[in-house]
Amino acid sequence: MKFFSILSLLTLVGTCATPEYTTRIENLKDSITLVDSALVEKYSKTITAEELSEHLYKFASDEFEGRKVGEPGQKKAANFLKSYYVNLDIDSPLGNKNYFQGISSTYLPEDVSASENVLSYIKGSEKPEEVVIISAHLDHLGIEDGNVYYGADDDGSGIVAIMEIAEAFKAAILDGHTPKRSILFMHFTAEEIGKRGSEFYVKQPVFPLENTIVNLNIDMIGRVDDRHAQNKNYIYLIGTDRLSKELHYTSEKVRDAYSDIELDYKYNALEDVNQYYSRSDHYNFAKYDIPVIFYFNGEHDDYHKHTDTPDKIDYELLEKRTKLIFATAWQLTNQEKRVDIDENNIFLN
Ligand SMILES: [Zn+2]
Repeated sequence: MKFFSILSLLTLVGTCATPEYTTRIENLKDSITLVDSALVEKYSKTITAEELSEHLYKFASDEFEGRKVGEPGQKKAANFLKSYYVNLDIDSPLGNKNYFQGISSTYLPEDVSASENVLSYIKGSEKPEEVVIISAHLDHLGIEDGNVYYGADDDGSGIVAIMEIAEAFKAAILDGHTPKRSILFMHFTAEEIGKRGSEFYVKQPVFPLENTIVNLNIDMIGRVDDRHAQNKNYIYLIGTDRLSKELHYTSEKVRDAYSDIELDYKYNALEDVNQYYSRSDHYNFAKYDIPVIFYFNGEHDDYHKHTDTPDKIDYELLEKRTKLIFATAWQLTNQEKRVDIDENNIFLN
């Protein structure tokens, strides 16, 4: 019965090792305390399906001509976002009402004109040097064969989510609740041609990357994929636990407290063939050891087609997903201690 005795030994080793790790994880989970629940609930209410719809019907309209990098439609989209922040009275970190981080054509592929990332900023009240970046890409595919590629889901949905999140934080500030850490709202250009806007940002960051504590990146959150046709109450989260278990469990605790939405980690699997972890702007932050969460609804029949239009967005669902991201951002900007990457986490080392 040799085989059996080796198996028993393995089982014994397994049971010795397992509790230690699970205890550490439990201690880590217990160390996460949610803050300001009443305020999160209160300002979350300013995020509405109506306003998301209003913004998206504008942003994904003919006027913006599919927002192709460097083209007039993309410039209109950039100016639209700038006007939005000027009206909300949210500053740019660059000063002088300059909301554009210019990217010259020499940095971009041949035949692509100069472009710009659009950014705005809320300065933290207690730890202004620590920055949470909330991002979505403003560009899309332009016009082909006379068809405007509206990109309502990709990534109009992420853009309007950020617009509503910024408005919610501003409402809180006007009542005296400025976030403890700073928030950078980033609208990247040139994602569709290889994540060039975010690549440019991490090479020329406005705030030092070592104090950029997390990137919440939103790319397509207004639709439902086939996998969830029967139950649309979901969002895919990708990357949450890759660099920071603390971020993963914080995100889960926020969901447990404020939302009944199902968190689907299918595409977070290391071996997943789609490799979405490396396919949107957050990946340029992850490369620098900055923990990320990528919020995503999965692909659908209109993905990268001119039929990705605003009438196909589920605005109630978009509202729900946006509220979850707002609550997560609030927690990360206001909790006592910045979220740690695993190698710096006292519970895991
Ligand atoms: Zn996209």
